[in-house]
Amino acid sequence: MIQLNHVSKSWGTTTAVDRISFAIDPGQFVILLGPSGCGKSTTLRMIAGLEQASQGRIHLHQRDVTDLPPGDRGLSMVFQSYALFPHLSVADNIVFGLRSRKVPKAERRQHLKRVAKLVDLTAYLNRKPSQLSGGQRQRVALARAIISEHPICLMDEPLSNLDARLRGEMRREIKALQTRLDMTVVYVTHDQVEAMSMGDRVILMENGRIVQDDSPEQLYRYP
Ligand code: ADP
Ligand code: ADP
Repeated sequence: MIQLNHVSKSWGTTTAVDRISFAIDPGQFVILLGPSGCGKSTTLRMIAGLEQASQGRIHLHQRDVTDLPPGDRGLSMVFQSYALFPHLSVADNIVFGLRSRKVPKAERRQHLKRVAKLVDLTAYLNRKPSQLSGGQRQRVALARAIISEHPICLMDEPLSNLDARLRGEMRREIKALQTRLDMTVVYVTHDQVEAMSMGDRVILMENGRIVQDDSPEQLYRYP
């Protein structure tokens, strides 16, 4: 479903990602784990087609990502900063993508109802993002990502702005949504607890390279 072959990314003399390769099967929850600056976000942004690889190839659904128009990539993204529109209501934030794709209003309403229920926001649809807690804002971002029903969801440190208690709760919610919707998730974090508790598979990066690619159970079992 997602395939990287010897992918590198450099800016001038900075090599952010250095010849990495991996393949992700449908339905996997894959964590990109590693310290700040090791190239996780750059990798994710290249998978999304937001950043072009300097070398190597990236395939989504057996097609080169650079040949796929954004609307055909079949993916959604969730960011650490939520990236909500402050002047729009929660409902309008969630249906924003559907509206730009000209999905009819009745259909938008149906999807909105279903997704709002899934992320527990039904009572908040008329509010503005500024009237929500951090956890609720992140739920809006999640709702906006899953409403399009894309098979792939890319998440870049989605929980790092939340306090510890809420992070635990949201970890479980995201995991449950992924299972329920059978999504393929690539999830960037520097948090080992998140990696171990959410991932089916953890790809550990260091200095732009992959140093380990394993199940969470195997990850810290050194020979
Ligand atoms: P991580 O997500 O693991 O924290 P990043 O992928 O954001 O790491 O960054 C990897 C390296 O690439 C860092 O050294 C960072 O400074 C550099 N980098 C990221 N984006 C850019 C950019 N647009 N221009 C120049 N250097 C960048
Ligand atoms: P438009 O501006 O295109 O007329 P609306 O702003 O009325 O569309 O709403 C966009 C979508 O979100 C529609 O499907 C609408 O039914 C739904 N919606 C907007 N606000 C709410 C709300 N508070 N509760 C439930 N659904 C809402």
